Amino acid sequence: MYGKSAVRKGVKLKNYTTFHIGGKAELFCIARDSSDIVRLNREYSSLCPITYLGRGSNVLIADKGVKGLVVLVRTEKTEFSDGLCVADAGVPLCSLGSAYLNRSLGGLEFACCIPGSLGGALRMNAGAHGRCMADTVDWVEVLRGQEVVRLKADECGFAYRESGFLPSDVILRAGIRTADADKNDLIQTVNKYKAFRREHQPTGFSAGSVFKAADRPAGYYIDAAGLKGLECGGAFVSKLHANFIINSGFATAENVTALIDEIKARVFAVFGVQLKEEIIYLGEFD
Ligand SMILES: Cc1cc2nc3c(=O)[nH]c(=O)nc-3n(C[C@H](O)[C@H](O)[C@H](O)COP(=O)(O)OP(=O)(O)OC[C@H]3O[C@@H](n4cnc5c(N)ncnc54)[C@H](O)[C@@H]3O)c2cc1C
Repeated sequence: MYGKSAVRKGVKLKNYTTFHIGGKAELFCIARDSSDIVRLNREYSSLCPITYLGRGSNVLIADKGVKGLVVLVRTEKTEFSDGLCVADAGVPLCSLGSAYLNRSLGGLEFACCIPGSLGGALRMNAGAHGRCMADTVDWVEVLRGQEVVRLKADECGFAYRESGFLPSDVILRAGIRTADADKNDLIQTVNKYKAFRREHQPTGFSAGSVFKAADRPAGYYIDAAGLKGLECGGAFVSKLHANFIINSGFATAENVTALIDEIKARVFAVFGVQLKEEIIYLGEFD
């Protein structure tokens, strides 16, 4: 048994990602409380690089793994007060969405089906159904160096699937706005979003949309270039949603990057459109 937030060596990271791909972390630790993050940052930041991982639902981890310390953020406090929900970075978005729904609070319906943590969602400015995290955030607390800094929403540099946090900032928690709403309306909206996903998005190991939307959804270009079903090793382009790459169980990160390069080259050749990745590469790629 490992003690609370013990640092371990050589932990397989694929088990902590939705793609189920990736090598090992040189050092690995699970942070259960914001104070763990502050302590790990103090103890390790001068010794090695530190990488923070939420639910691993938007990352491709290199086959060679990640050098330094990987901190899995599993902090989980959530508190509701007048008009605001203060939640730790590790809280899963779907749990936060359910907590809103149970209290008849609106604002996070769009997030109910996004399989990330609050921290990862803020870093990515995750969104769906015309809404994104930037629309709901009041403030975000980050660990910047050794200091905890509270940023107002307009200081977070939110843009389409991007934020302006410093690369070394660690998101600790955030204040998310709430609004009173009718519970039946909320349930209907969330059910509609769930049904949409069931119909339009594949199940299986993936990291969601691989590319950002260009002037049209990336999936439009990939489909129109005839790339649905294209394979490389154990990775293939979903036939249901062309912007999803699926790991059939034995894909390597190298298979996925080769497929990504092929998709980008073919879409560029046909349409002159340069697709840009939404997924984040972590670790040592050649
Ligand atoms: C089936 C499926 C459907 C999806 N649907 C959507 C969708 O509708 N909309 C959408 O926007 N995305 C979607 N995604 C992508 C993904 O779920 C979101 O981007 C999500 O917000 C990522 O959160 P995460 O905790 O998994 O982040 P991770 O993948 O763990 O990390 C993403 C980035 O954030 C950084 N990070 C994580 N936590 C912290 C922290 N506490 N402090 C600082 N940096 C941090 C990581 O280092 C990394 O750079 C989908 C993914 C899947 C698999």
